[in-house]
Amino acid sequence: MNFDISRKKMVQEQIVARGVSDRRVIDAMLKIPRHIFVQEAFAMQAYSDSPLPIGEKQTISQPYIVALMTELLALTGTEKVLEIGTGSGYQTAILATLSDRVYSAERIRPLALRARKCLDSLKLFNVQLRINDNEGSPIGWEEAAPFDAIIVTAGAPQIPGILIDQLAPGGRLVIPVGSDSEQQLLKITKDENGEIESSVSVACRFVPLIGKQGWQN
Ligand code: SAM
Repeated sequence: MNFDISRKKMVQEQIVARGVSDRRVIDAMLKIPRHIFVQEAFAMQAYSDSPLPIGEKQTISQPYIVALMTELLALTGTEKVLEIGTGSGYQTAILATLSDRVYSAERIRPLALRARKCLDSLKLFNVQLRINDNEGSPIGWEEAAPFDAIIVTAGAPQIPGILIDQLAPGGRLVIPVGSDSEQQLLKITKDENGEIESSVSVACRFVPLIGKQGWQN
């Protein structure tokens, strides 16, 4: 199997054809090898139009959703980005390619450790990972705030106020919000006066965001 050809096909048929048009996002999706972020048994399916299991009952998101969420963040290359839910590290790699610095938090240690290896193998050294495996630990990364962009790659029952607090003026937060079986992808912007606006993108289905202001484990 030629992964480069599969990746080009994925970008054309699943991402560009569905309306993602940010050239930087498209180039990053063409560049980052998704197959290294999945378990070996799933490598042949790495460029399929679906989420895949990554162990620990978690998933790597569908490529289109990764591209769409990244496009909604409107990254130009200068941003400090927070990601909640490192998972496989694939979305992290896309963010690291398109921004200045990425802070990514994951609650499951083995996933974070594997993601670190994948990111290092791609020489993406502008990523700081944190393991939030303490049940009571708050969502986010308060010490490194504020962030120009925040992405949450797990479904939340409501918008966590703690993340709004960690968003810089002019910043964007992209987060799936809804029930445990279906969410709406929301883009929340904070203007220079701290006013919040929210818009709905698409329906989606993510594993739950666990913790205070998320779901109980
Ligand atoms: N973006 C990831 C990728 O490309 O592989 C997929 C992430 S997966 C859908 C969601 C991840 O969020 C899981 O790995 C889960 O353990 C993590 N998670 C859930 N609640 C969390 C929290 N409060 N803090 C950090 N990570 C969390």
